[in-house]
Amino acid sequence: MKTVNTPITKELVLHHSLSEKDYVTKLLDRLHEVKVDLDIDKMAPWSHSRIKMFSSCPLQFLLKNLMKVVYIPSDEQVRDQDSLLMKYTGLIAHHILEQMVLGQDFVQGYESARSKYSDNPDINDDIWEACTGLEARLHSFKTRIETFQIRYDSKQLDVEQKLAVDSNGKKVNFNSKNAFYRGILDLSILLHNNHAMIFDHKNGGSSEHGVRNYEQQLKGQALLLTANYPEITHVVPFIHFIQEGTIWGGKVIYQKEVVLDQFLLSIKSRLTGAIDSLIEKGKFSQRSGNQCNYCEFKAHCKVGKRASGGVFKPLIEESKILFRG
Ligand code: SF4
Repeated sequence: MKTVNTPITKELVLHHSLSEKDYVTKLLDRLHEVKVDLDIDKMAPWSHSRIKMFSSCPLQFLLKNLMKVVYIPSDEQVRDQDSLLMKYTGLIAHHILEQMVLGQDFVQGYESARSKYSDNPDINDDIWEACTGLEARLHSFKTRIETFQIRYDSKQLDVEQKLAVDSNGKKVNFNSKNAFYRGILDLSILLHNNHAMIFDHKNGGSSEHGVRNYEQQLKGQALLLTANYPEITHVVPFIHFIQEGTIWGGKVIYQKEVVLDQFLLSIKSRLTGAIDSLIEKGKFSQRSGNQCNYCEFKAHCKVGKRASGGVFKPLIEESKILFRG
């Protein structure tokens, strides 16, 4: 049985009204509580988004995953961040789609989302308005899935299915301490011929730009499904572009043997590479990129050519302590 790190579980909520000095002090205090052994097994469970964050920006990973920091932005910061509109319309659209695929209509799904997210102060009228504008596209998706189920003889449909595998690629419970890689599948359909279809909903993006960026995520989902349903022989991935109202997929097919032999190795190899590069750097540095648009720490993180680290500079320097011993 593997030994694991003992992660911090309690969130550190930092409000925008904190002075810069208090903000930094609280961050440094929290950093000193972090104990992490930089080992892919001990840092498990991994997920696609966790791996992506770890390899895209070590600082964001440190703040979110190791220190469990949650930042409460000001109204002005919320307004300035267009990505919040995308983030929340995506979240709500996922919920409505889940309800619709399970048999409800758009209005019922929408009402269910309103009640689920009624306590979230960041979800304003603009966001709800944007979601009502999705009705025709979500309805079209539901109709296509229903047609698809009849045409291809489906035997099982699951939404938001939580699946996990251990470090040998064997199925384990999602919350098992032996879970190495896990994920929540938006929508999966098993057919009577033992083929499986996975659909991942993306709020942004376009089928015109291809799906290269989503390949790793789809392969991870194929691994989870195949390990958990031994009867599956092939997995066919699809991406549903919510805003565009299109579905990509049907041409790429993953064979069971390839999924089980290669996809877990590929995940481990990406992780090992990311850890090696972090150890070489010796600190949790910031790394700017597209992910900054969706990062809650953007307001305090002066990214750009000089990459000063902004408010986080002392934290980045102090993070060297996590590499000692
Ligand atoms: S804003 Fe960008 S560089 Fe800064 S922590 Fe977030 S992802 Fe990293």
